[in-house]
Amino acid sequence: MRLTFVAMLLVFSFAAMADESERMAELRRRMVITQLEARGIRDSATLAAMRTVPRHEFVPEDRRHQAYADRPLPIGYNQTISQPYIVAYMTELLGLEPGQRALEIGTGSGYQAAVLAEITDQVYTIEIIGQLAEFGQNNLRRSGYDQVQVKHADGYYGWPEHAPFDAIVVTAASPDIPAPLVEQLKDGGVMVIPVGHPFRTQQLMLVEKKNGEVRTRRLMAVRFVPFTRGQD
Ligand code: SAH
Repeated sequence: MRLTFVAMLLVFSFAAMADESERMAELRRRMVITQLEARGIRDSATLAAMRTVPRHEFVPEDRRHQAYADRPLPIGYNQTISQPYIVAYMTELLGLEPGQRALEIGTGSGYQAAVLAEITDQVYTIEIIGQLAEFGQNNLRRSGYDQVQVKHADGYYGWPEHAPFDAIVVTAASPDIPAPLVEQLKDGGVMVIPVGHPFRTQQLMLVEKKNGEVRTRRLMAVRFVPFTRGQD
């Protein structure tokens, strides 16, 4: 009798969990159609990644109900998880392919890193705030992105031990393009970085290295949290 009760409870809680995850998947499908495809995101690897990564697992508990909203969300320590469209736009620009190596500066929640990890298994990410490095790492592990390597450090210096990178994405606004990151970009590689002053409108820049030559191009006006330096 008691066994039947426990078994029934188990069935109900599994059913509830499955229901919840199906509800979230539906919100993601809608997010991809209305926020991404409608605004011109076309790259199939990017769209598939955005449809797959459980964004609600990367926001604080009390923000879960807003996880798929068309906006950035606070993640503590005055930082934010970027709006889904921005994550998709930057990912698409990187043109990342399976097996290529990607570096992210500004782990935050770990969400952008998870999106990259859906495309390649070589993802490195650096976060300057210790608690967020831990938060991001926990979110990544809980969602099964074990291959992503997280480091607590000032991302200005990149990660020379794993360079060169095919793609570098910076998710905090820097007054200039850090020279070590340009250095660690592979020939033929692409970097996307918001450049400008904190709390003002910044320019999202595309940096391309070809035959040793570096070309930069402005893409669009954006607003990111500041790129900070030194200790946390
Ligand atoms: N990519 C993140 C967005 C986080 S916001 C996500 O998907 O959630 C940007 C992050 O950059 C913040 O967590 C901030 O602490 C971090 N950051 C700022 N300056 C940095 C630096 N010099 N090195 C590494 N991380 C930095």
